Amino acid sequence: MAGKIVGIDLGTTNSVVSIVEGGEPIVIPSSEGDYLFPSVVGFSKTGERLIGSVAKRQAVSNPDRTVLSIKRYMGTDHKVQIDDKQYTPQEISAMILQKIKADAEAYLGFPVEQAVITVPAYFSDSERQATKDAGTIAGLEVVRIINEPTASCMAYDKNREGEKSSDDVETVLIWDLGGGTFDVSIVEVGGGLVEVKATAGNSRLGGDDWDQRIMDWLIEEFKGKYNIDLRSDRLAMQRLKEASENAKIQLSTETKVRVNLPFIAADATGPKHLDMELTRVKFQELTADLIKKCEEPALRAIEDSGLNIHQINKVLLVGGSTRMPAVQDKVRSLFNKEPSREIDPDKVVAMGAAIQGAILVGEVKDMVLLDVTSLSLGIETVGGVFTKLIERNSHIPCSKTRIFTTAADGQTVVEVHCLQGERELAAHNKSLGRFELRNIPPAPRGVPQIEVTFDLDANGIVNVSAKDMATGNKQKITIQSPTNLSREEIDSMVKDAAIYAEEDGRRREESTIRNKANIEIDTAEHTMRDLGERMTPEHRSALRDATDRLRTSMQAFDLPKISADTKTLQDLLFSISTDAYYALETGRVGADQAKAQAAEAPAEEEPDDADLFGWFNKEE
Ligand code: ADP
Ligand code: MG
Repeated sequence: MAGKIVGIDLGTTNSVVSIVEGGEPIVIPSSEGDYLFPSVVGFSKTGERLIGSVAKRQAVSNPDRTVLSIKRYMGTDHKVQIDDKQYTPQEISAMILQKIKADAEAYLGFPVEQAVITVPAYFSDSERQATKDAGTIAGLEVVRIINEPTASCMAYDKNREGEKSSDDVETVLIWDLGGGTFDVSIVEVGGGLVEVKATAGNSRLGGDDWDQRIMDWLIEEFKGKYNIDLRSDRLAMQRLKEASENAKIQLSTETKVRVNLPFIAADATGPKHLDMELTRVKFQELTADLIKKCEEPALRAIEDSGLNIHQINKVLLVGGSTRMPAVQDKVRSLFNKEPSREIDPDKVVAMGAAIQGAILVGEVKDMVLLDVTSLSLGIETVGGVFTKLIERNSHIPCSKTRIFTTAADGQTVVEVHCLQGERELAAHNKSLGRFELRNIPPAPRGVPQIEVTFDLDANGIVNVSAKDMATGNKQKITIQSPTNLSREEIDSMVKDAAIYAEEDGRRREESTIRNKANIEIDTAEHTMRDLGERMTPEHRSALRDATDRLRTSMQAFDLPKISADTKTLQDLLFSISTDAYYALETGRVGADQAKAQAAEAPAEEEPDDADLFGWFNKEE
């Protein structure tokens, strides 16, 4: 049967494949009869390649030759070394996709050639490209890469079809707690539209951490009892890890569980067996801080979306770890509502991908998808300040234009340095590229108008252009992969921004104050030079004094004094240039008008930061 597209949730821990049959998404089981395909690849000592649940099972005895969580490395140059061969993350992912393809074909009875694959909303171009490449390596045509939260919403929206009018718009928070990652997305669903409003998360928080807590507890208890530290025995550790995950899963439905690992260790007195009981109460006590950690990204996503917690209509639980009662309790208490669990949290993403596939072949009614940028885009302006044009969480595609100006008199070149990030100072953000706009007609600072435009297209490609309004001169640059950052980098950039917001703010203020002072000193010197003999000796010495004082306070880093001295110098320049103009009008002094105007400029209100940004003069 041709023209069918499967949907694949290529997860960090587990992958799932789905297809729409008779208008409804169904999940395709693996050849082992399980609907989860562990995203694990093992290489046996005899050269055999093991994929999925068999690989997960042998991870216990073959830890060195087992590859877990390869998704974390997609789009990076990380390599997996097995014997004398190196594998890229794409190749490892392709092995998982190959098994999925083969198992699906066996189950469906027809070739599977096309797929929609999901990726986290924060995945960059290169991570998406790597995912697509993995599909290609596995012999799949990846017809579309879609965001996991978008997929979840599509499955959810499809599920409630007929139940509500399709024009009802709901704000849904997707709480996706998987094996190693926690992703929160705020999505608007309704009227056939799925729009991701904001995303946040913790790339180092997932079910594995809950397993680890059980493991640590078992190890400590065992040590207390037998004085044997299991941590030094790698095989014992692998068994403990598996047992811990099983115990955790059981505790989602049972109130207590027995952990039984015979022959886990031995000493002079003979073999030792681990046999312990863990209650759900104890388990929840051991992991309370992990539950608490989920709060921050959830609240941050809400804040980024510009909404408040009461505007969240629905909380959708996605990911295997949301089966834990404590997670559901947390969601209940945080949002004061019952989380929605209408769709299996393990299957929902793959089902959404299958629906997207069905939309593409016309089997399901159309839905439009809109996505958002994960980091702000802007340029560096005078004083090393980062000035944003496109704010993070803006819709893609989008375009923003702002007018900038020169920072110095006679400046004929501006450098457009494009950056991405959340910090206030350019140096702390990621540089995307730079270009110069030359041949600006010499004019007093603040006079030239340079229009800078950022265009972000649907594929996430950024075009930046700068145009001198007077001459129409234009320069532009195309930046590929603007978000070529890892999730860690994005996360830490967002986190740093919060931590350093205060410090950056202070430095930004300092830089603004010092910059203004420099401009006044510069103007004073120009004025003295330009007016020459036409300036009275009293004015000249007053101007010298004022500039010297300002220089001294700048050297002393005394911010309030710099501001005060700048103001004094500015006032002085104002009265001097007024006199010069008066002299001009009365014809007493034939000063060059343009130069007088340049001297007069500081008398004007300093332009509002929001409208006018200057560049350093490259030629200085
Ligand atoms: P990913 O999206 O990272 O691939 P999944 O959504 O498949 O991950 O979630 C896997 C995690 O869910 C694992 O840590 C697994 O132990 C956990 N998990 C699965 N079922 C349960 C359950 N019933 N109770 C608690 N945790 C579970
Ligand atoms: Mg997942």
